[in-house]
Amino acid sequence: MEHNIDFTLWYKGNFINEFIPRKCKDFNWRIFHGLVNTEAKLNLMKYSNGNCKLCIHDTENLEHLLHDCTELTGFWTNMECFIRKINQEFHISKFIVMTGYFDQNQYNEAINVILSISKWCIWKRRNNFKYEQEYITTSQLYLWVKNEVVQHFYSIIHDKNKKHNKTYTKYYEKLNC
Ligand SMILES: [Zn+2]
Repeated sequence: MEHNIDFTLWYKGNFINEFIPRKCKDFNWRIFHGLVNTEAKLNLMKYSNGNCKLCIHDTENLEHLLHDCTELTGFWTNMECFIRKINQEFHISKFIVMTGYFDQNQYNEAINVILSISKWCIWKRRNNFKYEQEYITTSQLYLWVKNEVVQHFYSIIHDKNKKHNKTYTKYYEKLNC
């Protein structure tokens, strides 16, 4: 598979994008700079055996954490269906999960908001399990992400300082049904 990244679009989508919640933008930044303390990374510092705490068997590197883990089976397919409510042409791929969405269309910005929130929730779910022993199933994770996204879009359309409310109202109505 060949991937030609439009660097400007990629940067805009993940980091300039004013609609991505701060915490998720920070997480995107940590993903890009390899600053996420996955078990594989902790293993290099001898703080972990490197294995994923959720599925136990495989090494938890970034790709495993965000995409490959069997504890995410079905999650991204569900997210694809969810995102198709605003863009019927959308196809999820591992590449898009890892780096963001770069098709130059009107949905680019909103889709990257959704992908960023998803990745942040995956990381939060993993940490809840690792540190609080709180297990969130894959389907609960999906409901949680959906809810976070809908709430976030709601807050965007009620933010008086912003002027693009029309577009996000449309997205909000589609996602919230
Ligand atoms: Zn795993």
